[in-house]
Amino acid sequence: MRRVPLVDLKAQYATIREEVNCAIQRVLENASFILGSEVASFEAAFAQYIGVHGSVGVASGTAALHLALRACGVGPGDEVITTAFSFIATAEAISQCGARPVFADIVPETFNLDPHEVEKLITPRTRAVVPVHLYGHPAEMESLRRIAAEHNLYLIEDCAQAHGAEYNGQRCGAIGDVGCFSFFPAKNLGCYGDGGAVTSNNERLLSGIRALRNHGRLDKYVHQEIGFGERLDSLQAAVLSVKLQHLEEWTEARRRHAETYSRLLAGAGVTLPVANPLVRHVYHLYVLRTPHRDELLERLKVCGIEAGVHYPIPIHRQPAYLKQGYDSVCLPVTEQAAAEVLSLPMYPELQAEQLEQVARCLWDAVDK
Ligand SMILES: *Cc1c(COP(=O)(O)O)cnc(C)c1O
Repeated sequence: MRRVPLVDLKAQYATIREEVNCAIQRVLENASFILGSEVASFEAAFAQYIGVHGSVGVASGTAALHLALRACGVGPGDEVITTAFSFIATAEAISQCGARPVFADIVPETFNLDPHEVEKLITPRTRAVVPVHLYGHPAEMESLRRIAAEHNLYLIEDCAQAHGAEYNGQRCGAIGDVGCFSFFPAKNLGCYGDGGAVTSNNERLLSGIRALRNHGRLDKYVHQEIGFGERLDSLQAAVLSVKLQHLEEWTEARRRHAETYSRLLAGAGVTLPVANPLVRHVYHLYVLRTPHRDELLERLKVCGIEAGVHYPIPIHRQPAYLKQGYDSVCLPVTEQAAAEVLSLPMYPELQAEQLEQVARCLWDAVDK
């Protein structure tokens, strides 16, 4: 019995070894390591891929969110509405600006922000809404865009799990005012360290973020404001330029694997992921739900299947946020999702036998 990991970065490297080694060597020979032409050319290619005017490479997905929020003027006294069913960085970036995250509940089908709940939480202090396109399925962007426009709020997309995802033919990262991407190694487009980018059609926001990531620099010696050291480096940009050329084929592989899982698991008594017909789901994760999650996770582990849970503790229940006075926040749909979700192995290089092995183990496990 072979082990099936949740993700397999070694399998991916094996398919692009020559191209990546060559790109890394080019950077070493040029000995230009911070920003520079490697970063600029990746930024241009990534903006074109997303379908926006420009992109700015930054140090991580968290930095992308943090700098995007700052460029939108979010600061102390402001509220930003987002989801508690995400990686903590979504809320952390809001807190880093001195603003307060306000958590709206999600819809049970896609685990994304419920626009009706968002609308109920708007106050005169609300400055922005941050939807997360969780697991690679775009949030309800049409309603969110309408709500943001009506209330004059910035719409900042957390696209950390949604490279290449589309809503109504538009790519995530091109729909709101700013898109924030992570290139953490295990993301759909990942580098070999930390990295991130923001995308936008708004040149004012882009140039604000460009200055903020680089110590508020106007030019070499002039700093127009107090900024941050949150730049993307040249080695990561060179790796990303190689990998971006493979992203579409990798995304199509993920989508085929998701289809195979759904075919093999139909009728197994667990709730399978669904995709709204308006969207292109990019399956960063293939997430099913069942009230017997913990038992199932244990049984899969015994047969060598490395499943995961994204996320077992919603952000408002994290010790870091309980301390901030979130103990009375009640989000029933989020809390139930956190108790029931289970992520199956998902990466482009998965083989047919591995998909079958996962499905077989899952059927066996639910039969017990
Ligand atoms: C990964 C992730 C982030 C943070 O990205 P980093 O590059 O790790 O800082 C933010 N939001 C979501 C939804 C993520 O999955």
